Amino acid sequence: MDLGNNQVKLPKFKEAIKAKFHRHLPTNSIVKQGFISCVADKYYLSVSYEDNKPEPKPTTIRKAVGLDMGLESLVIASNGVFYPYKKFFQNLQTKLTKAQRRLSKKLKGSSNRKKQAKKVAQIHASISNSREDYLHKISNEIITNQYDLLAVETLKVRNLVKNHKLAKSIANASWSRLISLLEYKAGWKGKTLIKIDQYFPSSQICSTCGSNTGKKPLHIRNFVCPCCQTHHHRDLNASINIRNYALGMLDERHAIKVDKTRVGMTRSYACGDSADGVVTKYGYILDIASYGSLKQEAHPSLAGG
Ligand SMILES: [Zn+2]
Repeated sequence: MDLGNNQVKLPKFKEAIKAKFHRHLPTNSIVKQGFISCVADKYYLSVSYEDNKPEPKPTTIRKAVGLDMGLESLVIASNGVFYPYKKFFQNLQTKLTKAQRRLSKKLKGSSNRKKQAKKVAQIHASISNSREDYLHKISNEIITNQYDLLAVETLKVRNLVKNHKLAKSIANASWSRLISLLEYKAGWKGKTLIKIDQYFPSSQICSTCGSNTGKKPLHIRNFVCPCCQTHHHRDLNASINIRNYALGMLDERHAIKVDKTRVGMTRSYACGDSADGVVTKYGYILDIASYGSLKQEAHPSLAGG
């Protein structure tokens, strides 16, 4: 197999095939194998390759970020950055719904039905292409945004089961895809990704004083902590809690109960595990004294930083 500038040479094909490249391979990389797939009458070649880059050096964890999946925004980062659902998802969804309705009205076995089925498949493909593109951009930005530790909450399965709407399922699929992109990109860069399971009460804890403010229905987007009177954006507060939990800070406060048997923690690198703290292969957590500077960041007034 040969990858040219705008063409691909495949074994068994005499001539090179014109191709559009979505990403270019790093120089000096060795192509191992390729897989051809066909989606909506378009052919895709995915390539696995080896680069000769050395293993990333361990990074000191100086900056940590928590990421939450929101209802209005796909990602809310604890630094106050929100990544919206793209408008074009909605446009494409409307198109898809219409196309599917039209499809259901076509006679089975008719050529019109075949044509319409092709259209539906094309819309599906372009939805997944734009989503993939957007998720790569977001994950690159988060990974290269000087964070050494990324904390994410895993998929909220219960929300998914309750809600069968297309938008919700796209949101959930995007979230789990984003986590897997972050996971492997974090690995490339020697950064640490900590996954926190969905039972961690990220939306109940006040990120300022640590008190448990109780369960809130999904439509409550903002709330005031009854203990310290801080105004919170629901999702931003959750992402700060996710980050703080990953840093092991909430335990120090003893203000909330965390059921450790249920709040599971997994790392992108399973290695010399220790039960009492976070262990990473590529990074290490700074000592408690230096948490002070991170702790201040948890205050919601520092939304920009
Ligand atoms: Zn509070």
